Amino acid sequence: MTQVELAEGLHVVIGGHFPKCNTLVIIDNEVVVVDPGCGIEDLRAFLMTQNLTLNDVGTVILSHIHPDHITHAVRLNRLSRCRIAANEITTPLFNDKEKMKNFLGFDRTNPVRPLWEKLVNSRMFGALEDGRVDEELQNGDKFALGNCTLRMLYTPGHLPDHMCIEILEPNLVFAADIDLTEFGPYYGHPNSSISDFKDSIRRLQHNNYRGLISGHLKEPLIEDYKTALAAYQRIIGIREDLVLAAIMDGAGSVPEITLNPIIYPSLTDPVYLQFETWMIEHHVASLLQRGLIEEKKKRYEAL
Ligand SMILES: [Zn+2]
Repeated sequence: MTQVELAEGLHVVIGGHFPKCNTLVIIDNEVVVVDPGCGIEDLRAFLMTQNLTLNDVGTVILSHIHPDHITHAVRLNRLSRCRIAANEITTPLFNDKEKMKNFLGFDRTNPVRPLWEKLVNSRMFGALEDGRVDEELQNGDKFALGNCTLRMLYTPGHLPDHMCIEILEPNLVFAADIDLTEFGPYYGHPNSSISDFKDSIRRLQHNNYRGLISGHLKEPLIEDYKTALAAYQRIIGIREDLVLAAIMDGAGSVPEITLNPIIYPSLTDPVYLQFETWMIEHHVASLLQRGLIEEKKKRYEAL
């Protein structure tokens, strides 16, 4: 178990990269856990260092519905009887995982669904188990603890339900999957949106936080986060250039473009090919919208 103390009573238990995530733990007049994706064992080990147990967890807040962020939440609720809080979009998806699967593009007609379910079940414990959200949150809602107040900030794009959690004292933001990893922004679902993602990045850049807490970096606090966000956003543009280059080289359809994967270069797994396909589809839509390519006889051509 690795943890980083950001301020008194404010800790990040490091889960790191997918299929885990970093877990924010706030120890105040209540113990609040945001995104328990570090795993219950590491969370328990961390709490022990603070003379606490899983039973002391009062609330779990979920940033969005992705399995690597909600994993262990249902089990934690079962063990500690903590309440679970999520925003109004995440709530019905968490309570009914069939709705979650549809939301993520893995409805019953998707042939990759069984393989995706297998990946989630083997790597992200309990993420497909139906749960129950006790408290529904909305954009701007505050969550007051003794010394610290949390505020919900909707930041769609990665997924429509993605939200960051602002920690008003000491003025930090837990940015979940606006994670500043080298991989870059992830928008690999049919309802992800590149333009919403860019708007959300801009929203974070306009606010003056003391630092941004990444949901996946092993050194989670980035103080110069405005520069880091600009570099992170540039990855979207680089990918878009590569998609345009592929079309200019004669790839006229998404399957032809993904023959030489752009997002996941060493791709072999059909689940990742699905993610790649959805991301490329968003770029093709963006190129069409910007008038850089056109569709002729069901094939894309560069203009
Ligand atoms: Zn996510």
